[in-house]
Amino acid sequence: MLVIVSTPIGNLGDFSSRAQQALSDADIIACEDTRMTKKLISLCAVQTKAKLLPYHDHNGAEMRPRLIKALQEGKIVALVSDAGTPLISDPGYKLVADCHAAAIKVSAVPGPSAPVMALTLSGLPSDRFMFHGFVPAKTAAARQQITESAGLTATQIWFETPQRLTKTLAVMAEIYGPRRAVIARELTKLHESVTRGRLTDLAQLYAEQPPVKGELVMLIEGADKTRAAASEEEAAAILTAGLQHGSLKDAVRDAEKVTGWPHRRLYQLALSLDKKG
Ligand code: SAM
Repeated sequence: MLVIVSTPIGNLGDFSSRAQQALSDADIIACEDTRMTKKLISLCAVQTKAKLLPYHDHNGAEMRPRLIKALQEGKIVALVSDAGTPLISDPGYKLVADCHAAAIKVSAVPGPSAPVMALTLSGLPSDRFMFHGFVPAKTAAARQQITESAGLTATQIWFETPQRLTKTLAVMAEIYGPRRAVIARELTKLHESVTRGRLTDLAQLYAEQPPVKGELVMLIEGADKTRAAASEEEAAAILTAGLQHGSLKDAVRDAEKVTGWPHRRLYQLALSLDKKG
C-alpha cells in the first residue's frame, strides 16, 4: 500500500499521531529531501525502521518502477514532501497514477496544507476556489496566466516568493483592478501574518516597504460577473498597459477578459490609443 502522509508546514505540533504512526509502520519512506525528513523524524522522536529513499521531480521516472516493485512485493511505502501535503505543488501525482494503473491501494493521512489554511483565514469566499500553484517566474508567462484567470469567479490562490511579491502584486492590480486580496505569511509559525486589502492598496503597501521574508500564499477575490462593464477610462488604462507589454491583438484579447467590453469596441479604442502612443 502507498500512504500519502502530510507533515507540518511550520509548527511541529501539527504532526498528527496518525501521520507519525504511518511513518513508523512504513517499510520505505519516499521523501522529497531525505535530510529534511530525517530531521523531522528525529525532532519528533518517531520510531521507524523504514528506509528513506529520495523521490523528487529529477529522479521520479527512475524511482517509480522501484517503488511500484516494492509495493507489489507487499511493502508499505509512505510518501512525504518537505512540508505540507504531498502532490500540492510537490511531487507525487505520477506515483499515485502508476499505483492505480497497477491496482495498488493508495491511502492518505491528511493534514496541513498552506493553500487550504490560507483560504480558511482569508475571509474570501471559500465555496469555490482555484489553486494555481506558483506564479510563473518569467514576467511574460506570469502576465499571461494572471490574464487568463481574470474572468474566473472562484477565489484564486497562488504561491509566490517574497522576492517577486511586489512585482506580482503590481501586475495583478493592473489586470484584476481593486479586488479584495490577502497575503498569508509564515502560517503556523512564530511570525504568522494575514494582511487583507484591495489589490491596488496592497501593491502600494508592499512596494513602499522592504521585501517581506518567509513563505507566503496570495489569495485574490474572483471576478464579479454582475459588475457593470468597465468605464472607458478603465478600459483605456487596461489597454495601455497591455500595449506596453505585447501586440495590439494580445492587448485587446486580454482586455476583453476583464472589461466586459465587446471585441470590436475594444479594438477601435486600442487602435486610437496605439496611434496616440
Ligand atoms: N505541499 C505544500 C503544502 O501542502 O502546503 C506546498 C509546497 S510548495 C513547494 C511551497 C510553497 O507553499 C511555499 O513557497 C509557500 O508559497 C507555501 N507555503 C508553505 N508553507 C507555508 C507557510 N507556513 N506559510 C505560508 N505559505 C507557505
